[in-house]
Amino acid sequence: MADALTTTSPAPRARVQAMKEYHPPLGCRDNLRLDFNENTLACSPRVKEALAGVSMGSLTRYPEREPVEAMVAAHLGLNAEQVALTNGVDEAIHVLFEAFLEADDELLLPVPTYTMYEVYASATDARVVAVEAADDLQFPFERLLKAITPRTKVIAIANPNSPSGSVATREQILELARRAPQAVLLVDEAYFHFHGETVMDTVGTVPNLIVARTFSKAYGLAGLRLGLLAGPVELMRWVRRVLSPYSVNSLALVCLQAALEDTAYLDWYVGEVLAARTEFESALDAAGVRRWPSRANFILVEIGARHAEFVRLMRAAGVLVRDRSSDPGCDGRVRITIGTREQMRQAVVALNEALTALRSGGETQ
Ligand code: PMP
Repeated sequence: MADALTTTSPAPRARVQAMKEYHPPLGCRDNLRLDFNENTLACSPRVKEALAGVSMGSLTRYPEREPVEAMVAAHLGLNAEQVALTNGVDEAIHVLFEAFLEADDELLLPVPTYTMYEVYASATDARVVAVEAADDLQFPFERLLKAITPRTKVIAIANPNSPSGSVATREQILELARRAPQAVLLVDEAYFHFHGETVMDTVGTVPNLIVARTFSKAYGLAGLRLGLLAGPVELMRWVRRVLSPYSVNSLALVCLQAALEDTAYLDWYVGEVLAARTEFESALDAAGVRRWPSRANFILVEIGARHAEFVRLMRAAGVLVRDRSSDPGCDGRVRITIGTREQMRQAVVALNEALTALRSGGETQ
């Protein structure tokens, strides 16, 4: 019977069969979470109040996203038709690739970068053209320009980038948009608040530029799954064809409004992280750990051959960090999210103990 079931089980598309499995380590994360670049503390208290005000009756209805979309658009200085809310930026990436990438198209990606671009691209019939950064992990602008072809259909840039924390300048982004008019240029500003620079103000004036933002990072709403795409109406209408009108749930919509209004909380959290980042950089320098300059709420550090032991030792000390060794050009490198100053002081104690153990050969593989 089992055999009969196996032989008759329907096969997915060839591209799906060829996709790699991706299981981010989301289990057992009750320690200090410096592994996923989330807000490490809490969202605005106004969000809690908003949640408490939700009636059971309101949950019986399908969510109505348009009024909140209009509010978010106004907050960004845009028209409602230029903004689409999504179930996290991950859905935004998925929908954008579904809408624009077809067979023989090329997705141009500076690497290392955020994993999900490649995951969603691999579900389409397009080809990924990866352009690797040099050892300094700076944005490979010149190499990207050279890699543009008539088949380049989407260029995805995380700005700031993960795991490096490096940035592309406004001039570089606008030049890329100019040099590849046949392509959608996605600028993923997931970590915008920690960087402070944006190209959101050019949305609508650059015909092929789309900006993504998330509420998972500075706003502290990763569990609600909220993101957005902002772009010219001519492109957004195609995005909306593919995007589910139901994918952002009503609790997320209620909370989004509250989170946006509490600018004081956002400013406080970002200020705290930036102060913690400066302190943590000094601690890394004092410990003799190589680091890459970061404009985001995380720092990539060089641990070397014993990176897996380092991550294990940190976990044993109650601090979760993320091994990025399997990213292109990142062997031996670990990404550490920046939380509050108090949290990062705890992280520094764990880091120094782990390094001492590694340097004295305390733990073996
Ligand atoms: N873009 C980048 C560059 C990210 O690092 C992440 C989160 N790790 C995301 C998008 C995903 O954001 P969301 O939680 O909104 O799906």
